[in-house]
Amino acid sequence: MPEAGYLDKLNDNQRAAVEFGVGGEALSPPLLVIAGAGSGKTNTLAHRVAHLLVNGADPRRILLMTFSRRAATELTRRVERITAQAMGTSVAAEALTWAGTFHGIGARILREHALSIGLHPEFSIHDREDSSDLMNLCRHGLGFSKTESRFPAKGTCLAIYSRTVNAETPLGEVLRDSFPWCAQWQEELKQLFGAYVQAKQAQNVLDYDDLLLAWAQVMADPGFAAHIGGAWDHVLIDEYQDTNRLQARILKALKPDGRGLTVVGDDAQSIYAFRAATVRNILDFPDSFDQRADVITLDRNYRSTQPILAAANAVIGLAKERFTKDLWTERASGPKPQLVTVQTETEQARFMVDRILENRETGMKLKEQAVLFRTSSHSVQIEAELTRRNVPYVKFGGLKFLDSAHVKDLLSFLRLARNPRDRVAGFRVLQLMPGIGPKAAGRILDALDLAPDPRAALADVAPPARAGADWEGFVEAMSTQAAWPAALGLARAWYDPHLDRLHEDAEARRADLLQLEQIATGYPSAEAFLTDLTLDPPDATSDQAGAPLKDEDYLILSTIHSAKGQEWKSVHLLNAVDGCMPSDLGTGSSHELEEERRLLYVAMTRAKDQLTLGLPLRFYVTQQTRNGDRHVYAMRTRFIPREILHHFESVHWSPVQHGGAAQRPSPAPIDVAASMRQMWS
Ligand code: ATP
Ligand code: MG
Repeated sequence: MPEAGYLDKLNDNQRAAVEFGVGGEALSPPLLVIAGAGSGKTNTLAHRVAHLLVNGADPRRILLMTFSRRAATELTRRVERITAQAMGTSVAAEALTWAGTFHGIGARILREHALSIGLHPEFSIHDREDSSDLMNLCRHGLGFSKTESRFPAKGTCLAIYSRTVNAETPLGEVLRDSFPWCAQWQEELKQLFGAYVQAKQAQNVLDYDDLLLAWAQVMADPGFAAHIGGAWDHVLIDEYQDTNRLQARILKALKPDGRGLTVVGDDAQSIYAFRAATVRNILDFPDSFDQRADVITLDRNYRSTQPILAAANAVIGLAKERFTKDLWTERASGPKPQLVTVQTETEQARFMVDRILENRETGMKLKEQAVLFRTSSHSVQIEAELTRRNVPYVKFGGLKFLDSAHVKDLLSFLRLARNPRDRVAGFRVLQLMPGIGPKAAGRILDALDLAPDPRAALADVAPPARAGADWEGFVEAMSTQAAWPAALGLARAWYDPHLDRLHEDAEARRADLLQLEQIATGYPSAEAFLTDLTLDPPDATSDQAGAPLKDEDYLILSTIHSAKGQEWKSVHLLNAVDGCMPSDLGTGSSHELEEERRLLYVAMTRAKDQLTLGLPLRFYVTQQTRNGDRHVYAMRTRFIPREILHHFESVHWSPVQHGGAAQRPSPAPIDVAASMRQMWS
């Protein structure tokens, strides 16, 4: 006999959502749970699945989808725990055979039905990089890249293609709204995409977008749709605000009357519009079916203390548009979020690691803390500081190979070439040259710091004695205003000989770098490259952490995008400055700006007890001026304007004042090597 107590902890609205239509004769009508961060949406979804199972639902006839494999696994584990409590025996997570991401589930369906829908069952799946290579072949095949040197690069073509597909928007409109600089190529692009689709078919390939597109297309056949949709009684989706139109169409085809369908999300946390997700999906959901969906909102936050919630509410309160309402919490006590002003990103890293270790001394595990950042490359300093002080960590988001030394070297070079004042990149790159140690590197960087023109700056520096040709190559590469992606080619050519000197496995690393360059050629600019590479595309949100280091304590480093849905006692957010949040690239349109605001909201609402925002003044922001780029000091993010500043405690921190934080004793020894292995295995 099931024990009723398993729903006791839920509040009335949560319970209503869990019990909605369960146990009736027919499947439940469509249900939308829309509510702010930390209101228990995911928890409610897990309880609803458990409740369905307790009431006799067949776990194989439940489809559960969310934004990453990691999140799906976490969800099924929660269901397992709840059913264990409810029934004494748990429904094993494995019994929920249909839990995953839209893309993962799509791939399975397409493969299972391949023969009947004209696909080869052994079709291969291209990741974005493979796809852009194929696009390139087609471009060459059509001769566009030869006759028209300014023809969009392969990656841009793919991005346009992908957006057209995912947003289900005509090419002309996509070009006008998102790629205006490519609009002149509309006819050629149309031809190219035709060739690309043909090539994929001929080669038996599906790309990432096809997993949704092909799925949606076969679902257009009512017979097939009924067959597929009939396989599941219940379809439940978390983080629905970050789905795109194709995904909405698939859902509608799976469950045309909406019965058995439950979607959960928060429009204020929609952060994937840059990948064609649309918040309209969640807002339009109630009216998508003949029978209007029931809408349940949750208004109590269980995650954060009142001061943290108030600050987050204040930030999102300034948004132009928002459906979900402010939440309240009973967790009254606790400090205000701190805005910590430091001089540099290095100081920021020191401060944050100090704080993290202090927390640990008072009993807060590393695992209960996280460092969040806008893009993956922003964690460089903090990673260096953590390594120096023997603090184990696991990093979510970003590509794996981004974290290897050689890739970092090259990216550092790019960063340095763009921003010669970036000292972390500078030290890293300069010291690759024989004869240049920290002191010489410091001097060179000082020179670069003062002069806007690297050639002039470097001409004044006495060439390091042993660096020789290496130095000349460096100066040349630094000062050549190479167009993108030629700049990367230059950097790699310069860097290449160092591989042999620095690494035994130079050949493998060389291959990595070539690969990196291929990705790069697909981007219109270095910024776009660096940003996109580090924004953790949904397909690459690293499941790398897997089930790491079971018994060991480790800190989480994560991009904000990959931190979605998660929570920690203490959250340390890097670079709460204009130029990072919003990013330079995000300030283009008001839509983009609003998405950046929501990103900050997502970051802040990950914190339960303690929230720290770092504000490095010397976070250089590149400003486009008529005479070229110029670098300006960063300022506090515009999303925390003066009128809401009272929600934060402002702190100024400097290492001097804190007695050389760098000299603090290291924490108790931990097997870093093991954790590093786990991290990248
Ligand atoms: P997000 O928008 O960030 O995804 P969410 O709405 O999905 O957040 P959950 O992650 O489900 O929120 O829950 C946030 C926290 O609140 C979790 O620690 C969860 O266990 C806790 N929680 C949720 N509901 C309750 C409840 N009724 N009683 C006690 N704790 C709860
Ligand atoms: Mg959630």
